[in-house]
Amino acid sequence: MRSLNSEFSKAKKGDLGVIGDPIGHSLSPVMHNAMLKRRNSPAVYHRFRVRPSELGKALALARKIGLGGLNVTLPHKERALQYLDRVDPFARSVGAVNTIVIGSRGLTGFNTDGVGFEKSLRHDLGFQPRRARVLVLGAGGTGQVIVRQLERMKVRKIEWWNRSGRKIRGRGPRIKNVSFYPELNKMSLRADLIVNATSVGLKNTDGLPAPGVEFKKGQYVFDVVYHRTTAFMRKAKSRGAHVTGGLGMLVYQGAKAFEILTGLKSDPALMRRALMKNL
Ligand code: NAP
Repeated sequence: MRSLNSEFSKAKKGDLGVIGDPIGHSLSPVMHNAMLKRRNSPAVYHRFRVRPSELGKALALARKIGLGGLNVTLPHKERALQYLDRVDPFARSVGAVNTIVIGSRGLTGFNTDGVGFEKSLRHDLGFQPRRARVLVLGAGGTGQVIVRQLERMKVRKIEWWNRSGRKIRGRGPRIKNVSFYPELNKMSLRADLIVNATSVGLKNTDGLPAPGVEFKKGQYVFDVVYHRTTAFMRKAKSRGAHVTGGLGMLVYQGAKAFEILTGLKSDPALMRRALMKNL
């Protein structure tokens, strides 16, 4: 029978891993193990299935084994905060962690999704944030991180839409809640960058995430979904926009997490190749 101890039974001191539920689909081991190998590290990166009710026990067990650290995925990103000894200011501001360093001073939490998003935006799309008007769709965990990162990048304006408008708790001079707009047609055509941060697009039968979203030539379009070309991306491409999916974000958040967890330099190109082979 599966138990938490059996889940962690192969892990040894100094190893790393990712916790979540479900976890079978996670590609984190692929990119981190490729990177560990390249750096001649004896550590192994594992996948640990941890149910919501087991989170506290799992973190205590990871500490007891002496793991070097963990990545955190759904559904633990927010709840993990309560078990940490220290949290980096950006992770605190978004209320979620995706990386936990386990050291002599206890558990320290970070969130590298924001950096991953910004790096992909700059490197994969060539997007320049100065004076940009941005439309963000989605206010789940990822939408929150993306909006906070765009604020840090000092874009001019963020129009923020979510299916359930009350979820938008963001305050700030740059942010406007546009969830109550029945149609996003004009707003989307005015935007320099449109980001789909909803989970719409995960399934191949999914359509567009919001009513009336339109695209134009030369516009920048980012979709967080990384394992397929979504209807959102297809429509944007057909209108002549510059489009990228979430693969780059996945790579760059992983590259930053690798450096935080190991203190070693990462190579995003190598991590991307490892991912592509397994997608
Ligand atoms: P989440 O917290 O569960 O939020 C889901 C979001 O999608 C909410 O805004 C939700 O709106 C919206 N949504 C769901 N179904 C919808 C529908 N039918 N129509 C319109 N909006 C809908 O999830 P999350 O953690 O933010 O993750 C969102 C996506 O980001 C996932 O696809 C995940 O795989 C991806 N992601 C990618 C990366 C990467 O590195 N590329 C990193 C992290 C996450 P309501 O609030 O109204 O329910």
